[in-house]
Amino acid sequence: MKNIPLWINGKAVESKSGRFGDVFDPALGEVAGKVGFANQDEINQTIAAAKAAFPEWRDQSLTKRIQIMFKFRELLEAKKGELAEIITSEHGKVISDALGEITRGQEVVEFACGMPQMLKGEYSENASTNVDVYSVKQPLGVVGIISPFNFPAMVPMWFFPVAIAAGNTVVLKPSEKDPSAALWLAKLWKEAGLPDGVFNVLNGDKEAVDGLLTHPDVASISFVGSTPIAQYIYETSAKHGKRVQALGGAKNHMLVLPDADLDLVADSAVNAGFGSAGERCMAISVVVAVEPVADQLIEKISSRMAQIKVGDGRRSCDMGPLVTKVHRDKVASYIEIAEKDGAKVVVDGRDVVPDGAPGGYWLGPTLIDKVPTSSKVYTEEIFGPVLSIVRVKTYEEGLQLINSGAFGNGTAIFTNDGGAARKFQNEVEVGMIGINVPIPVPVAYFSFGGWKHSLFGDSRAHGEEGFRFFTKTKVITSRWLDPSHGGLNLGFPQN
Ligand code: NAD
Repeated sequence: MKNIPLWINGKAVESKSGRFGDVFDPALGEVAGKVGFANQDEINQTIAAAKAAFPEWRDQSLTKRIQIMFKFRELLEAKKGELAEIITSEHGKVISDALGEITRGQEVVEFACGMPQMLKGEYSENASTNVDVYSVKQPLGVVGIISPFNFPAMVPMWFFPVAIAAGNTVVLKPSEKDPSAALWLAKLWKEAGLPDGVFNVLNGDKEAVDGLLTHPDVASISFVGSTPIAQYIYETSAKHGKRVQALGGAKNHMLVLPDADLDLVADSAVNAGFGSAGERCMAISVVVAVEPVADQLIEKISSRMAQIKVGDGRRSCDMGPLVTKVHRDKVASYIEIAEKDGAKVVVDGRDVVPDGAPGGYWLGPTLIDKVPTSSKVYTEEIFGPVLSIVRVKTYEEGLQLINSGAFGNGTAIFTNDGGAARKFQNEVEVGMIGINVPIPVPVAYFSFGGWKHSLFGDSRAHGEEGFRFFTKTKVITSRWLDPSHGGLNLGFPQN
């Protein structure tokens, strides 16, 4: 049984709080470790370590920062197999998918290596006679990152490479369900030569989160998780004077027009609906089929679902278990709700025969047709391998459905009509849109973030907005007196 420590000032530290959480191996259905939950003293110590490391790190040359960032990238590339195994053992996703999330995180590290370009200020000579005006971007100080269970490596890496590149020091509070990836990344930073205290890991639950949100030495909060918690994080952080970006939940629709290539649609719906057992914020949850395509599409999707091999992610499988038993049972309960609400369960994941231990948290891919839009199956985020079909008569009806939802994270349209796709991209109220692409996660040099209840705050993750979030700008107006200049002038300089 492993004990998962905190990481403070470049060292693993066992929590003395006496409070801990169980970390499961979801494919075995067993407790595999205990993670110590930080108490108030440990929260203060972690933030103090980050605060103490800040002055030196903020003044570290860009050249040195790039070298460390580059080394981190090289080590990550060389050792990512180890990290993937850790992710699979605590989250359950298959190894290839764990490697995929690391690669997407690594892209942000690669983007952050270009920090000199992103941190450049502006300069205007002679804004007034002999007066120059310029701006510089400076780091915020100690920044807090609070991450969800579903991407234990990628989501923290949406933020910390940019934060560190910009000269901040970091306290990461990973999900208590799969915290070992964060510890592994902390050790990798040390090996890459990052000074102690620049990257810290604060394991814990609400107490650790609240400690970060309310501590006067924490300058900003970057959060990713479910919508109710994101809203709480946003409000509490703002009340305590912090800069905050809080990314919330999702319910992503795929709109299928009758002219679409239905084989491409079926492949995409299955990949985006059941990859990582549907535990992705960009997973497709609802296929909105513009008639008359629904029957044909359901046939194509069902036949592909029959080929999905569910089992232990360490074996040769396509889809692993859900993260915990509690979550597995909650997701399965939506299948019952669907039946009660009059929907038609076409493929029932409760019948799955997995290639894995009998106690694993298994739920197979599930397809539900004719889901009423009043049903919780349609209105709530399920976050599991359950794909709903809603049938509509027209493009307009489908668009209206998508735009009336509470979330606005991702969406996709499948069509061969460029004009229809262009109209959709213009009219849909969602932050990230795929055109014949089911999971439109932006590359690292663009920014990631949804609209409506999928993002609280006004900054998205990584890309230019990431650097803007993790820096504050100073504008300097300067005049170097020459001997001819002088005299009283009580007004603003005007020429
Ligand atoms: P969660 O909201 O339960 O937990 C996220 C973090 O908040 C964890 O670190 C957790 O310890 C902490 N937390 C939980 N309850 C808390 C409380 N009451 N007070 C303070 N902190 C609390 O989310 P999860 O189940 O780990 O992750 C899944 C959710 O994350 C889904 O809703 C998914 O859509 C969302 N998500 C969103 C994005 C995005 O980019 N928008 C990306 C990934 C995941």
